[in-house]
Amino acid sequence: MKQILIEGNRESEYDKMEYFTFPMETMNVTQTYLGKTSHYPHTTGTPKDYPIDCAGIDSGQSAIFAPVDMKVTAKRGIGQSNVTNTVWLVSQNKVSTPSGGFQVFMTLTHWNDSDPFMKKWNVGSVIPKGEIICGEGTDGATANHIHLVVGVGYSDNWTKSSTGKWIIIGDTRKPEEIMYINPSFTNVIKNNGGLSWKEIPKKIGNPVSRDETRDQLQVNVDNAYARDSAAGNILGYINPGIYNSWEVIAKDGYEWHRVEENIWIANGSWCTWLPKKEKEDPQVIADLQDEIAEKEKEIEELKKIVTERDLEIENLQWRQEQNGFKKFIASKNAKYYIYLYKNEILNYEIKG
Ligand SMILES: [Zn+2]
Repeated sequence: MKQILIEGNRESEYDKMEYFTFPMETMNVTQTYLGKTSHYPHTTGTPKDYPIDCAGIDSGQSAIFAPVDMKVTAKRGIGQSNVTNTVWLVSQNKVSTPSGGFQVFMTLTHWNDSDPFMKKWNVGSVIPKGEIICGEGTDGATANHIHLVVGVGYSDNWTKSSTGKWIIIGDTRKPEEIMYINPSFTNVIKNNGGLSWKEIPKKIGNPVSRDETRDQLQVNVDNAYARDSAAGNILGYINPGIYNSWEVIAKDGYEWHRVEENIWIANGSWCTWLPKKEKEDPQVIADLQDEIAEKEKEIEELKKIVTERDLEIENLQWRQEQNGFKKFIASKNAKYYIYLYKNEILNYEIKG
């Protein structure tokens, strides 16, 4: 097995976390963290951060949404011509990212002093998931866009780097390592900047209820891969629950079950096997039980007969001894004092 089935770096609450996703409906990355226009010194000085410039659908001011509930930890620049407007946001909870589950921060730079959304948000505000944080702007820039930096943990400040850039303080990371793309939200990708963005993992499969007339497999985790064939391509994660096992193939050390038309999963410690139960005919069972009862009765009667016979024999022997008789049993046909047939019993008394 070359590909792991369960991702090792996940924490137990991983899938209860919300995904941290790119915050605009249109992705248009006009400069990555490697961009020579202005970003390259950000990634080559000390400290460093990994900014991307995002322009939305056109040259106007597209909105930037809160991907999860985020708290404003700092807001700088309004009314200051020498400070570029920037807001610091920290996720309220741990979130799910392409590189694991973390609390994350995000900064947005260049929104305008007049931004109607930023008027609502102050240090301490919690911006609910799905609310607009701000629009693109031109504060400290020549065209509408947002300069976006992300990282793991907390941040509320910046500092000048060895290359003379204002760098966001904290455990800054490359945006594609911290943000997923949610294709049902960010449905236009004009320009991904050439970065390897990951989509939020798809959940597939429709669990059924337990049916004891079928072999079934219960998936107990929410991070087991669903594949297009036995050990085949990953389609996403199978929804937890019970599935019918339509077909089984052994491959690469796993037992693969086809659980839907084109969905295969591996049976492992993350599954419970629920075998078909043989159908039991209640009439057949009742008849067999009657037969057993009858035989038991017969056995009891035979035992009683045997016991009675034993008693009779004992009684006879006892009576013979009481009467002072000895027993002579002829061993063969022969002439004795009297002629006896084989097995005939002669009771006799010894006199004198
Ligand atoms: Zn920038």
